[in-house]
Amino acid sequence: MDGRGNDAPAIGIDLGTTYSCVAVWKHDRIEIIPNDQGNRTTPSCVAFADAERLIGDGAKNQVTMNPANTIFDAKRLIGRRYSDSKVQEDMKLWPFKVIEGPTDTPKIVVSYKGQEKEFLAEEISSMILGKMKETAEAYLGKPVKNSVITVPAYFNDSQRQATKDAGTIAGLNVIRMINEPTAAAIAYGLDNKSDINGKINVLVFDLGGGTFDVSILTIAEGETFEVKAVAGDTHLGGEDFDNRMVDHCAREFKRRWNKDLTGNKRALGRLRCACEKAKRILSCNTQTSIELDCLHEGIDFSMKFSRAKFEELNMEFFRKCMETLETCLSDANMEKSCVNEVILVGGSTRIPKVQSMLQEVFGRKELCKSLNPDEAVAYGAAVMAEKLSSNSHRSCRDLLLLDVTPLSLGVGIKGEVFDVVIPRNTSIPTKKSKTYFTVYDNQSSVNVFVHQGERARSTDNHLLGKLTISGIPPAPKGVATLEESFHIDANGILTVTVKILSTGKTEKLTITNENGRLSKEEIEKMVKDAEKYKHEDREYKKKADALNALEDCIYNMKNKIKNMVDSRSSRKMENAIAETTNWLEHNRAASVDEIQRMKEHLESTCMEEF
Ligand code: AMP
Repeated sequence: MDGRGNDAPAIGIDLGTTYSCVAVWKHDRIEIIPNDQGNRTTPSCVAFADAERLIGDGAKNQVTMNPANTIFDAKRLIGRRYSDSKVQEDMKLWPFKVIEGPTDTPKIVVSYKGQEKEFLAEEISSMILGKMKETAEAYLGKPVKNSVITVPAYFNDSQRQATKDAGTIAGLNVIRMINEPTAAAIAYGLDNKSDINGKINVLVFDLGGGTFDVSILTIAEGETFEVKAVAGDTHLGGEDFDNRMVDHCAREFKRRWNKDLTGNKRALGRLRCACEKAKRILSCNTQTSIELDCLHEGIDFSMKFSRAKFEELNMEFFRKCMETLETCLSDANMEKSCVNEVILVGGSTRIPKVQSMLQEVFGRKELCKSLNPDEAVAYGAAVMAEKLSSNSHRSCRDLLLLDVTPLSLGVGIKGEVFDVVIPRNTSIPTKKSKTYFTVYDNQSSVNVFVHQGERARSTDNHLLGKLTISGIPPAPKGVATLEESFHIDANGILTVTVKILSTGKTEKLTITNENGRLSKEEIEKMVKDAEKYKHEDREYKKKADALNALEDCIYNMKNKIKNMVDSRSSRKMENAIAETTNWLEHNRAASVDEIQRMKEHLESTCMEEF
């Protein structure tokens, strides 16, 4: 299944809403791979500028200068429709533009190298995945293709499919997708293998930048990971807490100065950064302040922020987390007292109120903080990647993962009733079939609408796709029988097959463009585009390096002149330097070859004079 060669490395990638992390099995252990800035996590951020594209730290660092063209939160868009109420809500706060593309697909609009460009969320995510791939390649010194990518446990099929497509566009072979909390449990299991005798129940509480997941697993002998239940919200996390702080500050600004700053993208971007920093400080201190010079219309803004205020603003979210946790426990049919370990994952679990509320739920039980909440998911993904490799290390080889599907899957039947075929929290991979009958005499075709969700009315659930089967032989209603089979693979991805039992005719559901899924041709085109952008980035870097080298050379030569005694020689060099400086001023668009030739010319002229 993995198709990798003997020494082809396989990496684990945690593609987060706000930060991403990559890890690999090396030297008999997992290593978290630092990026080119030396950081172990990379902002999930892509910026488009007049001259270049930046991904990661570089993009995040310039966000306040270029807010309209710095894209973050692609994970909040991926696999969703433009009309989705969450997308509409988020759009009000994003400083970048999102428009409605064909078939209700959201498209991000940016200005890049002076031109307007449109990108899908898959493409932005692919750029981040590409950056993680490059980070791993630089570290390992060889090309990397095979990868395990994590997704929130509560992601639906469209969101999973779209994430997989993003991997393909980035040139990765996605050998498996696993759920984030499951990955964290694997990390915990491996870390504590020697202490786990028999079976233990763990609850993973994963509160990141944009998503929230709770998973309950049973770990047996530190090797078998059986997910009992998952619950969550794909739209709840640290960014929501930041937003509440931003709103509060904007209101305060309005109250003090009677000026509305919410239309000022740059001000909002700066305020958001300051609020996020303040939020982190409030996890250690009970008081902090937000200070921003010239925030809006030349007005400085300064405000004290207490931990109590932060908690009050976000209490609704924290309560929602605890309610979801109770649902998960009841779905897993597990008493709180049976949970042996509560594992914290995701940066937002550092918030003291979240920790104290969790402790309260579990009767003041100590929470497990031994895993790094920012790295545990990538760690577990890399263990899985190693397990799926042909020569896997023995400590990963025997690992057995039994995951579940987070949301019920079924079809819409008469009266818009949602008829469940696979209930939520069923172990995967799985295959289940149900039979349905025609609803009127001589019905020759049937439209099968496949939905995912927990609502009783089919149209209130997420529509995954539609399939039409025709050629049903004439018969009175209720006689012709259709068998509808749902298959979920180990990645959590669904295939639906419908069969006319009397004739054996079968139709398979491929989630089509109509439902937001990319076609093979579109993916191929995006792979080519991604290569083109990568090539442009490389060319830009080469050019920037050449220009820098020429500027350095001019600088060095100028310094050398200062120490020269022969004025005739120095005049010749001064002329050459002036000529090159002048050329550089007027030819910044020159090719790399031309720039290098100028440098060589300057060097050789100066050399003759030494
Ligand atoms: P993750 O998606 O796990 O990388 O989590 C990132 C989120 O965690 C962001 O919203 C951060 O602002 C948040 N975060 C990181 N450190 C802290 C902290 N010390 N206190 C509160 N939130 C934090």
